[in-house]
This record gives sequence, structure tokens and C-alpha cells, in this order.
Amino acid sequence: MSKIDRRNFIRKSSEIVAGGFVANTLLQHIERSEQQQVTSKTKEESKPVLEYRTLGKTGMKVTAVGFGAMRTTDAAVLAQAVDLGINFVDTAHGYQGGNNERMVGEVLKGRRKDAFVCTKLKISSIENMKSDLETSLKRLQMDYVDVLYMHAARSIDVIQNEDYMKLYEQFKKEGKARFIGFSTHSNEATLLSQAAKDKFWDVILVAYNFQREEALTKAIKEATDAGIGIVAMKTQAGGYETKEMGNISPHQAALKWVLQNPNVHTTIPGILTFDELNEDFQVMNSKLGWNDRKTLYHYGKAIKGKYCTGCNACKDQCPYGVDIPELNRCYMYYEGYRDQEFARANFAEIKADFHASKCMLCDECSVTCVNGINLTERMRNINKLLA
Ligand code: SF4
Ligand code: SF4
Repeated sequence: MSKIDRRNFIRKSSEIVAGGFVANTLLQHIERSEQQQVTSKTKEESKPVLEYRTLGKTGMKVTAVGFGAMRTTDAAVLAQAVDLGINFVDTAHGYQGGNNERMVGEVLKGRRKDAFVCTKLKISSIENMKSDLETSLKRLQMDYVDVLYMHAARSIDVIQNEDYMKLYEQFKKEGKARFIGFSTHSNEATLLSQAAKDKFWDVILVAYNFQREEALTKAIKEATDAGIGIVAMKTQAGGYETKEMGNISPHQAALKWVLQNPNVHTTIPGILTFDELNEDFQVMNSKLGWNDRKTLYHYGKAIKGKYCTGCNACKDQCPYGVDIPELNRCYMYYEGYRDQEFARANFAEIKADFHASKCMLCDECSVTCVNGINLTERMRNINKLLA
């Protein structure tokens, strides 16, 4: 007998049996034991209360902590997150060669209403994007997604491109996407400010964490004031392991820092394991305290000279046109996330014109990083480890 059947059976019995005390007690016990199973799976003593925020003008009531599925391979972790009430799941057409969308589809089969699902299409020709969306919906086993992004927008030209805008509007009209947006981890402040003026896109997925510049926080405010829903990614500033900090994990503090900004409506930390799920889940409804600030101070010091914030201060400075922030993002996947395969897959996507192979021409990098990254050494490492 399934849990639900068992519950209904006992509930009915309690209605029939005079003074159904025993049945009610049993029912309470089963509900308590089911609760305990959830609790022990996530190794938590008490279940934190879910925190909801409204995703801008979409009106969607989303949990403050969502689920970044990008590198998740264990479907049980995602299923557990949805069981716990996390209702915002992020994937993309390109993640894991399509297997990531397939996993999300399997987990949400028969329970589509339990979570808002977002996916992203690589920016390419209109025909390719149409066909990619059809493929994504098939993999997800869904008729529609809740948010459909253009993946990794980098310039105003892209977010104002009339062909893309028409295409995404058409997706909406056809009921294949309830809301539309773009993701960005380059030139973000400029794109957010522009989107706030244009008022076309419903949702923006933006790289945002405690290392980011004030201008980005301001641009996020402009976007939310214009009714745009804001989803934060890369909330952990690279997820580096820091021996200097002993056993303290900076990740809860980093997530709290992002969520202390009321203009961030939800977050999609990458969650691969039950422990990570537990760690991120606990952050809902908690405040950034003095200890968190201390932890972030130490974490910030530990990753200084390692983590590229993507501030773009070095953009266009390389005489050979190398895309330093984009290459650094790939390197972060290698060094911070410790995911060589993912780092190499992202590296392989960078166009030849912007590629690090050109760095072989330089004995020393002539570009200076405002955050203290030694770019000569970094570019050599990128070529050695990712090429
Ligand atoms: S090493 Fe040379 S080619 Fe590479 S980023 Fe620096 S200046 Fe550009
Ligand atoms: S390499 Fe340095 S200057 Fe360039 S984007 Fe990254 S943090 Fe900014």
C-alpha cells in the first residue's frame, strides 16, 4: 500500500471506528515518521520554513532558494528538493548534452505543478532556436516551461535584437513559454539597466554574489523597479575550497548575502548532493549575521587573486581580442567547482577569435586585473589545463 493509500485508509477508518483515537494516533505516527524520513535524509533536526518571494511581474511565488540543476546527476537529490517544497528548477538545453533536461523531466513527471521549470536556449539562428525548444520540451516531457531564457546574453544588441524578441514573443503566444528572459554573466549591469528601460523581458538570470560590484546591485534594483523578476546564479563566488577556513563552509553565508537583497527574488545555487541541498535549504528565512560577515571576509581574502568577478574592467584591453572574463569563467569551473569536464566543455564553446590560444604569442600578459589575478600565469594555466 502506498503512503497516500495508507493515509486515506486510516483516515477513513478513523471516521468509521467509534472514537477513532487509535486510527488518528496511527495516522499522526505515519505522518510523523514520513516527516522524520525526510528529516534524516537531509540530516536536519527541524525543517526550516520555506520562504517565498514574488518573481517580479510574473507573479510567480517562488522559493527564495531554488535548484540549480546544471551539474546535478543524481535525480534523487532533485526529487528530494521538490518534496521539501523547493519550487524553482533551473536547467538549459545545453547542460550535460541534454541529459540534464531529461533528468528534470523524469523527476517532475506526474507532478508538473510542484515546480516552476526554467530552461535556456543557446543564442543562434531563429530556426535552430525553434528546433532546440521543441527538443527541450520533449526531453522535459512538458508542453511548456515557466521561464524561457536566451542563454548567456552578452550585449545590448542581443537583448534588443528584433528577430529574437519576435521569436520569444511567439513562444509565449504558442503557450510554450509562460515568461521570457535572458541569462547573463558578462556585462550584466549594462544589460540589466537597458532591460529595465526596454521593459520587454520578464525575467533575468544574473551572476550575483558578495564579490560583485555596487553598480550591479544598483542595476538589479532598476530592473526590479521595472517589474523584472531577478534570479541570482553563481551565488557562491566560485565555490572554492579554502583550507585557510578549516571546516567552516562559506556557502551558507554567501547565499544569505545574496538573499539579504530584497530585489533578488530567487537563487539557483548548484546542488549536487543531499548535503548541499540541506546546506542551501537551511538558508531560507535566516539572516546574514555577524559570523556570516566574518566568514565572507575570510572567504573573500582566500579567493582574492583567484576569483574573476566578471566585472569586465579588462574587457577589450587585450590587443588580440582574447575574452579574458569568459576564459576565467571556464577556469573557475576547473578550480572552484573542481569539475574538469564541465570546464573543458565550456572552454570548447569559446569562439576562435576570442580564444586563449592567442596567449601563446605573449611572454607576459599586458592586461591588468583590478581584482589582482595574475593574468600571465592564469592564461598559461588555462591553455595548459583546458585546451
Ligand atoms: S596573454 Fe596576451 S593574448 Fe593573452 S590575454 Fe594577455 S595580452 Fe591578450
Ligand atoms: S579578469 Fe579581473 S578585471 Fe577582468 S573581468 Fe575578471 S575580475 Fe574583472
